[in-house]
Amino acid sequence: MTRRSSAVAAAVCVGAVLVPYLAGWAQPERLAELSGLVVAAMLAATLDVHRRASSDRGIMPPAFIVIFASLMLFGPRVAVSVAAAAALTPGFVTGRVSRSQSLVDTVVVILAALAAALTHQSIASVMPRILLWPWLVVPIVGAVLAYHLTQGALADFVVPFIRRQGLDRSWWKRALAGYPLYLIGGAIAAALVEVIDRRLWNSAAVLGALLFLGHRLYADYVRRLEEDYRRREVIDDLEQGMSVLDAGGRVTLWNDALERILRCPRSRALGRPFVEALPALAHSELPRTIKETVEDRKPRTLNHLRLGAAADAPIVQVKVLPVADGVTLLWHDVTERVRAEHELRSSGERLALAAEGANDGLWQWNLQTQEFYVSGRWRAMLGLPAQAAIAAPDEWLQRVHTDDSAQLQAALQAHLTGATPVFQHEHRIRHEDGTYLRVLSRGVATRGAGRKPNRIAGSLTDTTAQAQAQERLRSVGFLDSLTGLCNRGIFVEGIGRHFEECGRRKPGSTFAVLYLDLDRFKIVNDSLGHMVGDELLIAASRRLETCLRQGDSLARLGGDEFAICLASLNDEGQANAIAGRIQHALSAPFTIGGRDVFTSASIGIAFGPAHYANADEIMRDADTAMYHAKSRGKSRHEVFDDAMHARVRDRLSLENDLRRAVAANDFEVHYQPIVSLISGMCIGFESLVRWKRNGEPVSPVTFVPIAEELGLIGSLGTWVLQEACRTFADWQRRFPAAGLDCITVNVSSRQLMQQNFLRVVQHTLSQTGLAAASMRVEITETALLDSPGEAAIILTALRDFGVKVYLDDFGTGYSSLSHLHKLPVDALKIDRSFVASLLLPGRPAIVESILALARTLNTSVVAEGIESEVQARELERLGCTHAQGFLFSHPLSTEDAEALIVAHRPLGPKGVAASEAEAVLVAR
Ligand code: C2E
Ligand code: CA
Ligand code: CA
Repeated sequence: MTRRSSAVAAAVCVGAVLVPYLAGWAQPERLAELSGLVVAAMLAATLDVHRRASSDRGIMPPAFIVIFASLMLFGPRVAVSVAAAAALTPGFVTGRVSRSQSLVDTVVVILAALAAALTHQSIASVMPRILLWPWLVVPIVGAVLAYHLTQGALADFVVPFIRRQGLDRSWWKRALAGYPLYLIGGAIAAALVEVIDRRLWNSAAVLGALLFLGHRLYADYVRRLEEDYRRREVIDDLEQGMSVLDAGGRVTLWNDALERILRCPRSRALGRPFVEALPALAHSELPRTIKETVEDRKPRTLNHLRLGAAADAPIVQVKVLPVADGVTLLWHDVTERVRAEHELRSSGERLALAAEGANDGLWQWNLQTQEFYVSGRWRAMLGLPAQAAIAAPDEWLQRVHTDDSAQLQAALQAHLTGATPVFQHEHRIRHEDGTYLRVLSRGVATRGAGRKPNRIAGSLTDTTAQAQAQERLRSVGFLDSLTGLCNRGIFVEGIGRHFEECGRRKPGSTFAVLYLDLDRFKIVNDSLGHMVGDELLIAASRRLETCLRQGDSLARLGGDEFAICLASLNDEGQANAIAGRIQHALSAPFTIGGRDVFTSASIGIAFGPAHYANADEIMRDADTAMYHAKSRGKSRHEVFDDAMHARVRDRLSLENDLRRAVAANDFEVHYQPIVSLISGMCIGFESLVRWKRNGEPVSPVTFVPIAEELGLIGSLGTWVLQEACRTFADWQRRFPAAGLDCITVNVSSRQLMQQNFLRVVQHTLSQTGLAAASMRVEITETALLDSPGEAAIILTALRDFGVKVYLDDFGTGYSSLSHLHKLPVDALKIDRSFVASLLLPGRPAIVESILALARTLNTSVVAEGIESEVQARELERLGCTHAQGFLFSHPLSTEDAEALIVAHRPLGPKGVAASEAEAVLVAR
């Protein structure tokens, strides 16, 4: 109980005692008794046993005893106030009942108490004063009856009437059924009154014990009633109709569903022989079947029982089950099903005629009844007698080759869940003669409410001959051996034919090429293994096939790339719609090896013939559009357009310029000081490549990845390496006192994986005379992700040689942390994004974590991208020793860096402080 409800309870209790007391309804000396009754009434009202059955007025609530006792002790007005306290309790104190319901209950109980009081008084007044015991009870019996009937009438009739709810005209029957219990309550109340009136406190203990026992029995009784009630509810909730006939053939139970199915109300059926209730069945097999069941006590089923002669008369299935003293009938409405079957047969026959010519078998699977209808041709294909039949789905599924059955199930599931627009699967199936045929099964589900499939129908095509032909194609290398799709060569040839067709035969028509790449396929392959990857490719191919129309073609180009040619399109929107459909089809999980694998596709679309001269050109643009889709966030499709065209042109020209620049070594290296946070002194440099294209600087973020893609990174990287080492060795020689410790060189993953990278480094060091100990390579975390094993080998070799390894942009990749301890790393470079967020409120403690990690791994740390003094101070406070950033110096040309070395003064805030101090000295 909350504090609020305790307060409310106290208020209700005090009110119920004080009002009668102040109004003079109760004598002051009986205040204690009155209080006791109010508390007892409220406690009784909160008792748990009455929770569910409270809707049933036939059950006496425990509070009734107390209310009735107050009526006899103090008269009607006090009884009303006790009743009100009890009735308000569930809603206002415990909150277990809604407040409006609680108010209604209060009014009902008050009126019932008044009715009881009036009856008691009027009976007592007409009866002689001195009466002996049996006659004494008469007023009590009358009062209880009045209370009970008033309450029943109000709660089950008047209130629903006012609220315009359904009326239950048989309320009094139900109410009377509970009357004995109320009488017992009345008797207990009378005993209680005796005890209080005569102050028989000695017997109070006995009465208390009796009351407790009575309560236990009562609780039990209520529980049983409740169970009964629930059971009845369940029976009424049954979709299935249910009726019970006693030994004399009279109806004793008739549930709600049966009222619906037979269109016959319970009131008409209960207590009568059932043919009287349903004359339409008098001349059916049912009476005889019931009789037989009663005699031999064996269950029977009548499958199709028509309830009347009308065309729309319901059809039911009836199960007749023997029970102890009679029979139980279970009724199932099969009208829909029988009609559907009928329709299916006739449409099946119609379709069969059409299909017979096309050589396809037909099937329909009712997912609700699990009936599997197959056409004669379907059966004939498998060597069964050529008659249409209704069987079980196992007729089909059990014949499927075990190796194909999991995939078949997956394809079915994918369609039934709505992932694929059609179900389509090619599998092997056992012929009666034991051989296996290759068949293509196709189908479409019909869906009911909530898009829930209720049946699926389709065809079965024998593709054995086609499969053999394909096998021949595959063996000569025209088909992709994994997925059985055509390969690039065949696909391109097909596009060539479309060009011809559009040019000559159907001028003005269009077609589209879709270039499709599975997103994250590499991750699946790497993390789950190639077997799973292969399975995924096969399964995805099957789903893609379901998205095609007649005349479209699908090819696997290699890896996780597919291409689709959409023939004769009406408009471009159609291609977009199909691309959308493909994405939807791939979005449902693939079940492979018992686990769910997810993928999606990025799709590029190009329309032909347009300005294209040949298949290669249109494929190239579709490919470009696909890359565009990928870069815009994957799992989407993009149509190739002029802007892309322009970008492609730009990119091509950038590539050409870059090639020329690499050939001519037309780059510069800039140097960004690495500073000791404690002293502010420059202890070394990071070398950063610079390129000017037509006089404009291009960021290495742009051109380094292109150089990687074009395979130019080797030459470019080697040039930077040599340039940086040469310059730095020169500085060390010329400025031996400058404290120059190290030069770092960024090495991209491709460059690192070059076979001779170690040799290039060794050669450069010996050529420039730089000590290996002064040289550091910076590798990004992501570079290591590609092939961590190989990278570790190369890095270890470098380290053995004396070159140190820095892990760049540390913290931006995530999975390398797990094998970080296996990698030979000398320092971590904290990515500048973390430095930037260092002063944000509520930031995650990444920098601290990296510093802690570094301490554990015994590596040093360099923080990157420090732009403000506060950042520098905070990093120093956290224990970071080295840093780089605009705060100290931008990357500098060779000359500027040299000037900085010569100046030999602290950089950043420490430098400012030092020069201020100097200025002060000079001024003095
Ligand atoms: P990075 O290795 O993380 O280099 C640091 C980048 O941060 C540099 O950009 C540098 O100019 C910039 N930077 C330094 N201090 C600050 C600062 O306080 N604030 C801000 N906002 N930026 C700062 P840059 O030179 O444009 O280089 C970008 C990236 O290109 C480098 O990132 C590196 O990954 C790559 N890169 C540069 N040079 C080479 C190279 O010679 N070889 C290879 N493979 N990659 C290189
Ligand atoms: Ca770097
Ligand atoms: Ca970095």
